[in-house]
Amino acid sequence: ERIVTSELKYEDIEIEGSLRPKYFSEYIGQENVKEKLSIFIQAAKNRGESLDHVLLYGPPGLGKTTLSSIIANEMGCGLRITSGPAIERPGDLAAILTNLGESDVLFIDEIHRLNRSVEEILYPAMEDYALDIIIGKGPSARSIRIDLPKFTLIGATTRAGMLTSPLRDRFGVICRLELYDVKELCLIVKRSAQILSIGIDEEGALEVARRSRGTPRIANRLLKRVRDYAQVRGNGYIDLKTAKKALDLLEVDSLGLDNIDRKMLHTIINKFSGGPVGIDTLAYSIGEENDTIEDVYEPYLLQIGFISRTPRGRIATKLAYEHLGIKDTKE
Ligand code: ADP
Repeated sequence: ERIVTSELKYEDIEIEGSLRPKYFSEYIGQENVKEKLSIFIQAAKNRGESLDHVLLYGPPGLGKTTLSSIIANEMGCGLRITSGPAIERPGDLAAILTNLGESDVLFIDEIHRLNRSVEEILYPAMEDYALDIIIGKGPSARSIRIDLPKFTLIGATTRAGMLTSPLRDRFGVICRLELYDVKELCLIVKRSAQILSIGIDEEGALEVARRSRGTPRIANRLLKRVRDYAQVRGNGYIDLKTAKKALDLLEVDSLGLDNIDRKMLHTIINKFSGGPVGIDTLAYSIGEENDTIEDVYEPYLLQIGFISRTPRGRIATKLAYEHLGIKDTKE
């Protein structure tokens, strides 16, 4: 049970609803994505059309679901949220599509996990706003076309490369979400603290931000735990000292690394002499899935420059040795 995982945990559900920004004005960071999307939304509204299909990609917890609800709010239309694995058969998707209203937003999380037969229904739906349905069997089978409302599909995935190219090509707008910097996370922590009615000062918010691995979801989760600590062990207010004590207790270090990150770095350094080590070998050695390493652990370790990716595999950098207090014998 990792506290610093960027993936949605059960404990997040309770607070994520209330902390989720509803309009662009409350959505912190991702300036480029916000600017692009606001222009396209305004233009679509001026023309009285629906927005082009949008693909959002980037590690979990960076605000893809949030952006889809903001887009629906800014467009003033309905939103339907589902996910790739939840749509099992073509009929499931057909039911969702035929129930959408004009200009509605359909958000499909983990869109790379749609199965092939479902994905094929999406092609004409995205392109011509139509469903082609085959009725009957054998020689008497015929295809009928059902018109759909002009909806906007928003697909979310951790890596754009995981989509098939026919699907990727049907998105008019493709946006990559980046990990947040500490300043942005600090603003997010302060905003969330206000909503959760907990007092926090600048230094306390910065400390939570520094250990949040560039990820708003983690920032909110850590804030919630630090609030508990402040209310039980402290005076109900989060300052630097309280934040530090609470986060140390959670075994999240000064940069947001936990035991699994340290295990991964130690493995690269000790078992593979600092690398390069291929992703498959690394995943096997620490008992994790390749995808989990690439989507959940690695983005942050790359951002802070602790590992680098080379064609021959992952390498632990000097910064990683320093942080772990290990002498680099290759120097
Ligand atoms: P994803 O869909 O990418 O996994 P979410 O949209 O569910 O991520 O975001 C996780 C949580 O992080 C949300 O509940 C929201 O409170 C918070 N969050 C995400 N992005 C932002 C942002 N830019 N500003 C403020 N809060 C954010």
